[in-house]
Amino acid sequence: MDFSFTAEDEAFRDELRAWLDINLTKFLESWDTDDDPGGGQVSGFDRTQERRKDWQRRLNEGRWAAINWPKEWNGREATPVQNALYAEEMARVRAPGIYNTNGIWQIGPMIIKWGTPEQQQRWLPCILNAEEHWCQGFSEPEAGSDLANMRTMAILDGDHYVVNGQKTWISSAHLARWGLFLLRSDPTAFDRGAKHEGITAFIIDMETPGIECRPIRDITGDTMLNEVWFTDAEVPIDCRLGGEGEGWQVAMSTLGHERVGTAGLSITMASDLKSMISAARAVNPDALDDPELRERIARAFTDIELTRLLNYRALTKILKGQPNWPEVPLAKLQWSKISQTLAELAVDLLGAAGVLGKGGPDAIDGGTWTRNYSWQRYTSIGAGATEIQKNIIAKKAIKLPRK
Ligand SMILES: Cc1cc2nc3c(=O)[nH]c(=O)nc-3n(C[C@H](O)[C@H](O)[C@H](O)COP(=O)(O)OP(=O)(O)OC[C@H]3O[C@@H](n4cnc5c(N)ncnc54)[C@H](O)[C@@H]3O)c2cc1C
Repeated sequence: MDFSFTAEDEAFRDELRAWLDINLTKFLESWDTDDDPGGGQVSGFDRTQERRKDWQRRLNEGRWAAINWPKEWNGREATPVQNALYAEEMARVRAPGIYNTNGIWQIGPMIIKWGTPEQQQRWLPCILNAEEHWCQGFSEPEAGSDLANMRTMAILDGDHYVVNGQKTWISSAHLARWGLFLLRSDPTAFDRGAKHEGITAFIIDMETPGIECRPIRDITGDTMLNEVWFTDAEVPIDCRLGGEGEGWQVAMSTLGHERVGTAGLSITMASDLKSMISAARAVNPDALDDPELRERIARAFTDIELTRLLNYRALTKILKGQPNWPEVPLAKLQWSKISQTLAELAVDLLGAAGVLGKGGPDAIDGGTWTRNYSWQRYTSIGAGATEIQKNIIAKKAIKLPRK
């Protein structure tokens, strides 16, 4: 590991810290009260969404919402080091979530790279200002890890495409006004043995007739995931992003933004570990004298530190212009392993109180730990399934022999 922050990087971090000191404090003061600063009678889920909108708007006002976007779009054209510093600072202060995470980190950059000036004017402001919610529709029942296997059809018919098929696992599609979808525009690609071809990217108005979102209830009881069904839905040709058949390139063009995306996670995980120890001290102090639990805490602490250093090594390689693997897939594996380890550790540390779920009057920390116990299973699938990461490491890093 070999890097030091440049004066620009340090200035970037100091400016962000100073901004957060003032603006996060103000934000928390205005929202973490019983009053509703939104003016209306919003509560529960709606209030969470309003809170996310407000936070994203404040970030955007400070030019801190879309740091990777060009300056003309209120971004900062941040370097990989600045991305890592941003993630770490946000994790350090436990910054609230934003309204359009997908829109800011993935979809916006795709529109900036592939969109016409008209498309950019039409969609970028509403992503940035949190005016309308966005979703990302790639996965299908037979196309997840093997994404190129997608079969939802978009067939050109005059000035529009006719879309038929089914997407699945689409986060917050039922809340979204717009979605970036990858669709199969050339059905002959399979016969030609070229399934990465014949895929086109579209920006779709989720209110289009013929689109139906069917919520999926997940293991925690929430319904943020959806199936999205298309039945003869008509998508105007000017909603195509990039050329016909260029969908694969459009989708892959922003994956680079994820390369240091785990940088802040080790800070969040370290902070979670501290919080669960504090919770145990309050409700089940004997747990902290248990030698087995003490060893698990020490191991988790060490694993988190290792992940932090792994991220720094990946960053060093990026700065030297070297490929940043196997550190990136290894960090992903570490993240899913530690998230699940922590989730299990938390309920064991809390003892009997660990089963008190969200919504109950005695739930510890609002039931977060109990919810996490089941929710964190997703980390074996999200951002690249565990087995796929292991395949990548085996093939590219260890170069294991293949049949
Ligand atoms: C919380 C959550 C949110 C999501 N949000 C979105 C979203 O907003 N938009 C979207 O498009 N998608 C979303 N997804 C879907 C996600 O991208 C897919 O779940 C993921 O790509 C895996 O695909 P799959 O579910 O079809 O599983 P599969 O690819 O079918 O994998 C099933 C199992 O088989 C293993 N496997 C697959 N291929 C291989 C192989 N070649 N070798 C060895 N093992 C293999 C996998 O590791 C896994 O354990 C979300 C998923 C989750 C969990």
